[in-house]
Amino acid sequence: MIEKYCKGNHKTRKHALCKECRELLDYVKLRREKCPHGSNKPFCSNCSIHCYKPDMREKIRAVMRYSGPRIVFSHPILAMRHLIETKRENKKIEKENINHEKKNAA
Ligand SMILES: [Zn+2]
Repeated sequence: MIEKYCKGNHKTRKHALCKECRELLDYVKLRREKCPHGSNKPFCSNCSIHCYKPDMREKIRAVMRYSGPRIVFSHPILAMRHLIETKRENKKIEKENINHEKKNAA
């Protein structure tokens, strides 16, 4: 994903990453290793986005915005799965927020 973004936006050659994108990739890998949910989640899931630093999160978002729609055409099954996972995750977060509000109100 990052590779695609780098190639399209930073004009790097195939299978190469510029310094910035390589750092981003390393960061993503590191976060994934430390994530309490483990590495069985797709790296672009809500979960991993939540544990990124704000500036890294912005970079990842830019990568998603760029690669996301393209993935739908090259990997429709993966894209579908991601959509479902994201929805599920959003619902969970919503529920948690509601519970939190209830606790605060009581
Ligand atoms: Zn790049």
